[in-house]
Amino acid sequence: MAGEDGYGIPRSHPRYWSLVIREKLVEAFREGIVVPQGLIAHGRGECFDYLIGEETQPFAQEAIEAAAAALLLAEHPVISVNGNTAALAAEHMVRLAELLGAPLEVNLFYRTEERARKIAELLRRHGARRVLGVEDATARIPGLPSPRGMVSPNGIYRADVVLVALEDGDRTEALRRMGKTVIAIDLNPLSRTARTANITIVDNIVRAAPRLVEAVEKLRSRPRSELEQILARYDNNRVLSKALQHIAQRLMRLAQMGIAIEIG
Ligand code: ATP
Ligand code: MG
Repeated sequence: MAGEDGYGIPRSHPRYWSLVIREKLVEAFREGIVVPQGLIAHGRGECFDYLIGEETQPFAQEAIEAAAAALLLAEHPVISVNGNTAALAAEHMVRLAELLGAPLEVNLFYRTEERARKIAELLRRHGARRVLGVEDATARIPGLPSPRGMVSPNGIYRADVVLVALEDGDRTEALRRMGKTVIAIDLNPLSRTARTANITIVDNIVRAAPRLVEAVEKLRSRPRSELEQILARYDNNRVLSKALQHIAQRLMRLAQMGIAIEIG
């Protein structure tokens, strides 16, 4: 129908994109890629996106550039993919892995072998060449009970830099304790993941993933010394502070302006 997309959501709807993303997640849920808990996690993310203003902010862009530098400098970078990430950003995660020559690894909080397989298939349909974490999730992250802690010995287990998105704080902490550099994409600057990661991209994965691909494309021809400088200048604590200040100031501005919508 004119003015509508495949989901029947009118393009004129003020929350069009948010509704399209929900439909994508529901579809992935029906296909067995996303778990019901993933739908709830998305709702928490949406709430923070509303507060942030549903646009990539400068603090997120700064973290994206640092993340690109860290991934390019890494010896064994790994892109961790869970159900929500696969549903919302498979194409960009595959592209990122290709640019970095890094493996993708299916890594699930609520792990079942069937779901791991389905996510790997989805990634392969998007052109992924190397997907770990399905049959080879035989190593365990210390401190995490199985199956929550099962990873590939050739992937996350030996990685020096791991990109995670919509990750649980407990698992992020366990990766840090293993000495890994953790890059997180997380809309909630207050989550344990956001506060534990080395580099936190406080942005919606839908916007952050293509920007991260762009940043890697831009920085990959630069000398190592320049990438090292980007990382040396980066301060995650300051970036998280900026995210909180942005939300606080934005809310104060809105409160002062008056936000009631007049009809008629
Ligand atoms: P933590 O365990 O780190 O304290 P949590 O328990 O609040 O966080 P989890 O369900 O463990 O939340 O992790 C999901 C995280 O993903 C949440 O912080 C949520 O804000 C974030 N999130 C949800 N949807 C998106 C999205 N589309 N893009 C980026 N982040 C998202
Ligand atoms: Mg959690």
